[in-house]
Amino acid sequence: MENTLYIYNSMDRKKEAFKPNNPPNVGMYVCGPTVYGDAHLGHARPAITFDLLFRYLQYLGYKVRYVRNITDVGHLENDADEGEDKIAKKARLEQLEPMEIVHYYSRCYHKNMDQLNTLPVSIEPSASGHIIEQIEFVKKILESGYAYESEGSVYFDVLKYNEDNNYGKLSGRKVEDLMTNTRDLAGQQEKRNNFDFALWKKAAPEHIMRWPSPWSEGFPGWHMECSAMGKKYLGDNFDIHGGGLDLQFPHHESEIAQSVAANGKDPVNYWMHNNMISFNGQKMSKSLGNFITLDELFSGEHNVLTQPYSPMVVRFFILQAHYRSTVDFSNEALQAAEKGLEKLMTSLETLEKITPGETSDFNVKAFKTKCYNALNDDLNSPVLIAHLFDAVRFINSASAGKNNIAQADLEELKSLFHHFIFEILGLKKESEAQEAGNQDILNDVIETLLDLRQKAKKAKDFETADMIRNRLNEMNIKVTDTPEGPEWSLEQ
Ligand code: ZN
Repeated sequence: MENTLYIYNSMDRKKEAFKPNNPPNVGMYVCGPTVYGDAHLGHARPAITFDLLFRYLQYLGYKVRYVRNITDVGHLENDADEGEDKIAKKARLEQLEPMEIVHYYSRCYHKNMDQLNTLPVSIEPSASGHIIEQIEFVKKILESGYAYESEGSVYFDVLKYNEDNNYGKLSGRKVEDLMTNTRDLAGQQEKRNNFDFALWKKAAPEHIMRWPSPWSEGFPGWHMECSAMGKKYLGDNFDIHGGGLDLQFPHHESEIAQSVAANGKDPVNYWMHNNMISFNGQKMSKSLGNFITLDELFSGEHNVLTQPYSPMVVRFFILQAHYRSTVDFSNEALQAAEKGLEKLMTSLETLEKITPGETSDFNVKAFKTKCYNALNDDLNSPVLIAHLFDAVRFINSASAGKNNIAQADLEELKSLFHHFIFEILGLKKESEAQEAGNQDILNDVIETLLDLRQKAKKAKDFETADMIRNRLNEMNIKVTDTPEGPEWSLEQ
């Protein structure tokens, strides 16, 4: 392959040329959502980051098996193996079955990911569908001697493991520091050390989601599912593991320890982590009132938003930052992204209108090389976008007759623009057809309401008839009665 992709490997803290185990096949695992609430901005970033990688690897000719899990059991409220299961808690509050919560929020997540134009992953396994594999995995760790059973639960013995291996090699943490940092938590007497983590938890009597195991009726620890499902679908050692930086410790660190203990080898060759997002300089949180779901962002229905932002504006905004940098969302920044995206999309139409000349004032080959170099440099999408905007300036001046481009170069530039914008960055034209479709539905709904009003008038139910007209008026829809029947118009 002529292009060599350099990836920043979080394990080695440096950029390395990407060499898969079995080219052209690439195995890639990304930690997916715990589905107990609406998808929010925090879900959009890893999804878009690894979609860009997925698209680019395929563009380079690799055959990628992209596995992204759905966490539907075992993710407790805190990392110390305490608190309620997040999904069970939501189910209790909403008086639903846990699997109703899982199904509902998985659908919401997929809808939002489709809107953001992320490609479907190859396999999307769920934790609850892989209990047997997880139990087998725990057995292997017990055989290795790096885990112990206690009161029906099984815990990973971090200290023992660390004698022979390095627990903390991914996150850079030291076990000695963990010892001083972890609080003495009540109810942790089962563990030899506070930082030991659960591989299997015995279910409390009130716990709904439970399965039989050799140790107790219970459920797997949160870190276990990714180790077991990664092994099942990608093998004991695979190419890429991704996720948000917040998952590096303890989740990914523990995944490595589990896999080394059970299989005797490092599970992953390249660890990749996207950085975090903030809103107006603050961490997103429910208590600060700046926690924004993707539906709210797309509809504009949140009091920190001054307008709706389309999924493509959100995607473009995220791609304008390198995935290892933080991203701060604000109305101003999103509005700037909206303008930028429009400029880029308009340039595609302008390109079609250029009349080719005899010579070229634009070096298309150099442009192409620069664009690939940006992507090959650890997926540097902001630099790629900057090169595209350099070309946009040329396109605009060529279209104004101030510059020339020869036929062959023009064709190549068109083709490169399509490849970079649509296939690799995964942007798409905000569908005019979709807007027209929505307008048709809206027209039909208003006509239906007016029919109901006529029916009410005929039945001398003037109260209902007036209510319909008044409600429409409130929405700036003016209703006028004419001899031919009611007519309506939008008041600006
Ligand atoms: Zn995971």
